[in-house]
Amino acid sequence: MAQKRDYYDVLGVDKSASAEDLKKAYRKMAIKHHPDKNPNDPSAEDKFKEAAEAYEVLSDDTKRKRYDQFGHQGVGGGGGNGQPPNMDDIFSQFGDIFGESSPFGSFFGGSTTGNGRRVRKGSDLRIKLKLDLEEVANGVEKKIKVKHHVTCTTCSGNGSKNGAALKTCSTCNGNGQVRKVTQTMLGQMVSASTCPTCNGEGKIVETRCEVCFGEGRVLADEVLNIKVPAGVADGMQLSMGGKGNVPPRPASGGVAGDLLIVIEEEEHEFLKRDGTNVVFDLYINFADAALGTSVEVPTIDGKARITLDPGTQSGKILRLKGKGIKELNGYGKGDQLIHVNVWTPKQVNADERELLEKLRQSANFQPKPGKSERGFFEKMKDFFD
Ligand SMILES: [Zn+2]
Ligand SMILES: [Zn+2]
Repeated sequence: MAQKRDYYDVLGVDKSASAEDLKKAYRKMAIKHHPDKNPNDPSAEDKFKEAAEAYEVLSDDTKRKRYDQFGHQGVGGGGGNGQPPNMDDIFSQFGDIFGESSPFGSFFGGSTTGNGRRVRKGSDLRIKLKLDLEEVANGVEKKIKVKHHVTCTTCSGNGSKNGAALKTCSTCNGNGQVRKVTQTMLGQMVSASTCPTCNGEGKIVETRCEVCFGEGRVLADEVLNIKVPAGVADGMQLSMGGKGNVPPRPASGGVAGDLLIVIEEEEHEFLKRDGTNVVFDLYINFADAALGTSVEVPTIDGKARITLDPGTQSGKILRLKGKGIKELNGYGKGDQLIHVNVWTPKQVNADERELLEKLRQSANFQPKPGKSERGFFEKMKDFFD
């Protein structure tokens, strides 16, 4: 996949652009690169789609914030599950951009169904999914229960009592749209607006279904299997196409919205995540530090025993290779870093005091840091570069 351009660059606006600036910029781009205006330029469609994608993200406050913070990755556009919008999706924006009488409405074939109606999409559903560190590290398959709108089985989604056939709308003769000819900046255009009687459906329910009250859909629980890849992070969003809500009266066309799953990472009792690495703070007493010891440390998958050499200094960092978190969409795996802290007693009794007073003067207890005792910054450089 080619490197994505910055969305603000695509629309030619700066980061502080207002909603109105974005709309203007997008309108300009959409007209300039519209494929029907550029029949001899195959790159026009790509540019047109690129602008549509940029606008789709930046015109949505939540998505824009995520994009500003995390870039393409934050809005699922970095090669993860993000899909470039198709022409139908792009067209569905034009209602907002150009008003109901879109200048493209009359010649933009792919955007409408055979009888001139827009493709309808039900609303997306957003849920939170809590994962512990082990699930984040290795990936997990989860069963979740969602409550969403599904097609009413009593009327098969047409909203009519017992599913009886709908009546053709007399205002639009079943077209769903009312058409008129207007002058626009692109010349004379036939524009169409949604029929106010049937809301664009072309048909009318005479007697409503008693189960869904004419909506053609009902709320129902569904248990879904979600496959969460290893390496996800707090705030990331997975999406399951078509598992959101079906639109009202789905029998008259349209597709279900998406289920958006927002990842929430639970904190581990002992381990801290740092990218693909996990960090553990180990405390040992200074007898163990001086004489060496073997200790058990927690890892993501159970305990591991590590050996500390005699003369271990406080601040030493040990590495358990491959005991970290898998890279998202990658092949690598992080490590567990063990940060050794030598514990200094906060209080001592008379016996301990006596021993320590002796040791205080002892030759080997005098600090003699050599070249091999590297400072804090050098250690950090080693492990985090
Ligand atoms: Zn029904
Ligand atoms: Zn109508």
